[in-house]
Amino acid sequence: MLKQCASCLKRKPYDQFSVNNASWDGLQRLCKECDKARAKKYYQDNLEQCREKRKQWQDENYELHLEHQNKYNSSEKGKKTRRKFRARKKFTEKEV
Ligand SMILES: [Zn+2]
Repeated sequence: MLKQCASCLKRKPYDQFSVNNASWDGLQRLCKECDKARAKKYYQDNLEQCREKRKQWQDENYELHLEHQNKYNSSEKGKKTRRKFRARKKFTEKEV
């Protein structure tokens, strides 16, 4: 079963679309790839707004935020990012 993406107009299998319970077929109009690109662009176009919103969310859901952060920090991805960040910090300290 294929569905046409409303953005790139390519016909892709259903698993290439995110779930959207509000739509008639239960899937997003855009494929995951286009949706990701759109979200990224939106974030870059509304950087301040997005940051503000995230900060607000973190303030309002402080415990949930901590929980997310702990979960992320103990995940492989989180560990990797922290290692990278630490290495970069060391590097810049050496440079200065
Ligand atoms: Zn697409």
